Amino acid sequence: MKKERTLVVVKPDGVQRSLIGEIIKRFERSGLKLAGMKMMVADPAFIEKHYTIDPEWRRITGEKTIKGYRDKGQTPPSEDPHEITGIILGHLKTFMTSGPVVAMVWEGVHAVKIVRKLTGSTEPLSSDVGTIRGDYVIDSYQLADIDKRAIRNLLHASGTVDDAHKEIELWFKKEELIDYKLVQDKVLYDVNLDGILE
Ligand code: GDP
Ligand code: MG
Repeated sequence: MKKERTLVVVKPDGVQRSLIGEIIKRFERSGLKLAGMKMMVADPAFIEKHYTIDPEWRRITGEKTIKGYRDKGQTPPSEDPHEITGIILGHLKTFMTSGPVVAMVWEGVHAVKIVRKLTGSTEPLSSDVGTIRGDYVIDSYQLADIDKRAIRNLLHASGTVDDAHKEIELWFKKEELIDYKLVQDKVLYDVNLDGILE
């Protein structure tokens, strides 16, 4: 439980906005531990693999998007979830390969949920204030759709523990991840905080 790991990828817009350090800072100060990090330029096939790692992603994202249009009283571009996801995936491939990205693995108790909480919801227009997406970026599905591009929301964060496992395996070799102790682990995880007072 204490060793849960999750994948974060600073997307090309995050790198171009000079927010790599700020994003790292948000996770680092939470108490999570950085287990691995690298900068790379991804290719379209790799990005497709990343987004389709969950075999249900196409259906779920398609259905979610259709519902999003309906909730706003708008007509979705298609009634077929897979067709919608095809368009989104195309835009994501263009966007995610447009420049360098920074991939990292964060470790700690409830890492997946904590990182999602600090990241904020997918659409910056409605991401909470105080989250990375809520604080540092303005964009909306509406604008992204008009401009026929992916939404610019600075970073990716694994959605579930299962996705995190698969995504980390895709992005990192075993030897690129480091097991080590942080001095602060004691304060975060030890049952008895003894040995502080002299
Ligand atoms: P995330 O985990 O918060 O990034 O969101 P998802 O895993 O649901 O979606 C992955 C990516 O697909 C997002 O970062 C968006 O770029 C895109 N996406 C997801 N849902 C929608 C949507 O309803 N409309 C549009 N235009 N793009 C979407
Ligand atoms: Mg996701």
